[in-house]
Formats: sequence, structure tokens, C-alpha cells
Amino acid sequence: MICKKAHRYLNEYNSLPEAQDNQHGDRHICAGCAYEEGLRDGMEGNVRKTDLSHLPYSQAGTVRHKDAKGAYDEGYNEGRKRSS
Ligand SMILES: [Zn+2]
Repeated sequence: MICKKAHRYLNEYNSLPEAQDNQHGDRHICAGCAYEEGLRDGMEGNVRKTDLSHLPYSQAGTVRHKDAKGAYDEGYNEGRKRSS
């Protein structure tokens, strides 16, 4: 499953952490999708996820090789702020 969403090219994702290695096994997961999922979970007050393997892979664009877990956490924190 490859992400086709336009968020692959959004500039704001340039600030997301780079995946330095494959320690989470999520190097190719779309960080844009991870960010959006984190944002939603944070806003809805869901438990923070650690397994992002259900998300699509990113093939190209801004978010390629970004740290999906880092992106998720950033989104989650932002979602918590918005919901409070
Ligand atoms: Zn995506």
C-alpha cells in the first residue's frame, strides 16, 4: 500500500524528524499519514499508538524517509493541544 495523498508534498512536513535508521521498522511508512493519525488520536483522546504498521508506505515527496513515529508523536501532541 503506497500513500497517494497530496500531504506528501506539504512543506510543513519538512520540519519532521529524519529517520536516521530503521530502529522502529517504520522508515518507509508515510510520515504525513502518521502525523494525521497522531493528530486525530490526540484530539479524540485515544491512547497513543506504538504500532504504525497499518499505515501506507510513502514512495516519494517531502515525507519520504521521515521518522513516522516522530511524526505521529508530533501530531499527537498537537492534537492534545487543540482539544484542550
Ligand atoms: Zn500519507
